[in-house]
Amino acid sequence: MDDVLVLGGGPAALCIASELKQRGVAVSGIAADPIDDPWPNTYGIWAKELEQLDLANLLEHRWSDTISFFGSGGSAQEDQPIPHQLDYGLFNRSALQRYWLKRCGEMTWHVDRAHQIDVGQDDTKVTCASGQSHVARLVIDASGHRSTHLQRPNHGPVAGQAAYGVVARFNRPPIASGQFVLMDFRSDHLTAEQRREPPTFLYAMDLGQDLFFVEETSLALAPPVAQEVLQQRLQQRLTHRGVAITAVEHEEHCLFPMNLPLPDLQQPVLAFGGAASMVHPASGYMVGALLRRGPGLAEAIASALAVEPRLGSAALAREGWRTLWSPELVWRHRLFQFGLNRLMGFNQALLRRFFSSFFSLSQQDWSGFLTNTLPLPRLMALMLRLFLVSPWDVRRGLVCGAPKSQAPVPWPSNGTTSPGSPV
Ligand SMILES: Cc1cc2nc3c(=O)[nH]c(=O)nc-3n(C[C@H](O)[C@H](O)[C@H](O)COP(=O)(O)OP(=O)(O)OC[C@H]3O[C@@H](n4cnc5c(N)ncnc54)[C@H](O)[C@@H]3O)c2cc1C
Repeated sequence: MDDVLVLGGGPAALCIASELKQRGVAVSGIAADPIDDPWPNTYGIWAKELEQLDLANLLEHRWSDTISFFGSGGSAQEDQPIPHQLDYGLFNRSALQRYWLKRCGEMTWHVDRAHQIDVGQDDTKVTCASGQSHVARLVIDASGHRSTHLQRPNHGPVAGQAAYGVVARFNRPPIASGQFVLMDFRSDHLTAEQRREPPTFLYAMDLGQDLFFVEETSLALAPPVAQEVLQQRLQQRLTHRGVAITAVEHEEHCLFPMNLPLPDLQQPVLAFGGAASMVHPASGYMVGALLRRGPGLAEAIASALAVEPRLGSAALAREGWRTLWSPELVWRHRLFQFGLNRLMGFNQALLRRFFSSFFSLSQQDWSGFLTNTLPLPRLMALMLRLFLVSPWDVRRGLVCGAPKSQAPVPWPSNGTTSPGSPV
């Protein structure tokens, strides 16, 4: 019997399996597809997150010219970009996957689907779709945000970030050469009626060799913005700037939950990654968090196994949850969720003013917020400072909330996910 059985074959599963293996823990995995199958999503990250881990070599693309637009567009003043002066990158997906697989070493990955989990006093049995079953002291569910094996409270509708994008060639560059655009909130291409609808922005990057990725994105909303609306808006935005697509290389439909409630931290099955609600509720990022938090979690499990080799599933899971979601991290998560809830009620103009204030904070502060790397007291101070530097209508929205324009529906409202972007 192995010490740990990891469910899933995405970034979270590989990360935690590799960290456990590095610490001498006996681990096996159950993944729905062969473990070296290419991942469907592309992952973006601020380059300094990888530099701090000495992993910047895992980037396939890197941009220093990183900007956003928070003006309404249509005039020299409203078209001014805000430079972020912080490098952004896209992972080389297969390099990241190989990096973790290499750290996993010799390890068994059963190609199957975990179907049922039965927790006993000493161990846990996972029965798969094939009928086969596997037993381990601890099961870690890393099978993504759609996992049905975990208990989590129902806090009502879960907001989803939706995006529609294309990797394509164009009659003229949709953004400047060598540039990365985090958020283009210009809205001069929209009709007055469209400006009253849920806001969307452009996320775009120059991939080199005349290829660009352009994606119309909504921050987060319940129900999520429909793909057809995003596609139509992207087209409208490009046409307004005299840009036409000449050849589509890849089309992306993105939808994932931003404010999934934290799982029940007392349950005897542990989780990691999307299944453990580790996606940053305000920014949508997670891969940096995996790389930062995986080693600590693995260390806690390995130590618990070493100190008390007979520890049962529930006690091991408790140890894991305590480390993964420490009180400090739970509080930070609540603050991010609070922020997201407020922003979801903002219209386009209010969001533009909010983000202008947000990115006027020091780079350490805004990037620390987006990557969840600020200690709680500093995060609280930042939020207070942000409130103080914001215009009065943004302050009012942050305190009272803004009226919601749409009736909420439970997550998921449709099942599409494929490559896309966090905010
Ligand atoms: C479209 C999109 C774009 C994103 N972009 C970014 C980004 O740019 N940067 C960033 O940091 N984050 C991003 N995220 C957020 C987050 O990093 C990703 O969702 C990430 O893929 C989550 O990793 P995961 O391993 O937890 O889950 P997943 O990547 O969803 O992997 C789950 C794995 O488990 C397998 N599985 C599912 N059910 C079972 C089962 N019953 N038994 C066995 N295996 C099972 C699946 O086949 C899959 O291999 C994005 C998310 C999405 C959806």
